[in-house]
Amino acid sequence: MTNKEQVINALSHVMDPELHQDLVSLNMVENVVVDGEKVSFSIVLTTPSCPLKTKIEADVRKAVLTMTDAKEVHINMTSRVQGTKKAVDLGSNRFEHVIAVGSGKGGVGKSTVSVNIALALAKDGAKVGLLDADIYGPNIPRMLGIDGLPEPLPGQKIRPAELQGLKIVSIGFLVQNGQPLIWRGPMLHSAIQQFITDFDWGALDYFVVDLPPGTGDVQLSLSQTLPIDGAVIVSTPQQVAIDDAYRAVNMFDKLQIPIYGIVENMAYLPMPDGKKLHVFGENGGEHLASLVGTRLLGRIPIDPAIGQGGDIGSPVVIQEPLSDSGQVFMDIARSIAAEASKMAHNKRKSG
Ligand code: ADP
Repeated sequence: MTNKEQVINALSHVMDPELHQDLVSLNMVENVVVDGEKVSFSIVLTTPSCPLKTKIEADVRKAVLTMTDAKEVHINMTSRVQGTKKAVDLGSNRFEHVIAVGSGKGGVGKSTVSVNIALALAKDGAKVGLLDADIYGPNIPRMLGIDGLPEPLPGQKIRPAELQGLKIVSIGFLVQNGQPLIWRGPMLHSAIQQFITDFDWGALDYFVVDLPPGTGDVQLSLSQTLPIDGAVIVSTPQQVAIDDAYRAVNMFDKLQIPIYGIVENMAYLPMPDGKKLHVFGENGGEHLASLVGTRLLGRIPIDPAIGQGGDIGSPVVIQEPLSDSGQVFMDIARSIAAEASKMAHNKRKSG
């Protein structure tokens, strides 16, 4: 007869492929119940966006079936997102992972990536907030079809706008449509700080911040003001864009903010015959990633649905989740979640 110890022993032979440690010592196993030949338990992953969920589930089932006498295994795959020990605690808000999205220059799709990965993480079941801190072009309200904040309730903190479970605040909400934003340093800082503390974000698994493009003083000081855990750099494949993206990587390096990876946007144009036309050159993102020792998180095609989705407030992850572009964004979001889990785990381990 199988007992609980045998089940736990079997599970201690299953490794988390990202964290390189077994599931039992990672405290991922809960609620083990043995009922004759029936065994049930929960596997608590570090993110609902785990790209290896299916593999882990298969490994777990195999281990229990081969190493115990159990004939029936019920696995409840669940998750609890956990940041570093110093996960940002701000009054009633708490952010496990703060992810900055940056780029060397404008127009490469940084806001498009921010919006779609935030929505993708929310779709997977995470609690997600999105802060549009792009003072030069706060386009996120338009991309999401949101034109302002909900009416404040008396005596309560200001509520972010909400779409598909994603909480959104944009610096664009502070200005009239079409008015250029001219911020003096201190004003910008207090605005950004208020965005974090004065809003009712609640407990978030991921707080995604769309930074202004470039690597000037504004970007540098904004990155210092925000409690960023890791950064994602968006670039198009042209050499000039890659050069600018390289400067963005250096900026985060200087601030000791780890890079989760590079996203190559407008990587190719899918042709009707299935071929890929590399309009802006090939492998720029891959080269940059290997040059700076990070990973290429994904290649996003040039797709009218992405551009139009941004114009009409209907991002491709919501509008066409099963399209190639929708799937690419889902995969990128999951890779970012995996990197965030891995880095937070290593940081917790090293104290
Ligand atoms: P950034 O934030 O870097 O300035 P945006 O995300 O605003 O760039 O994107 C610039 C424009 O390009 C937007 O109109 C957007 O909809 C469009 N766009 C971005 N990525 C793609 C893509 N992969 N395919 C088609 N259009 C895109």
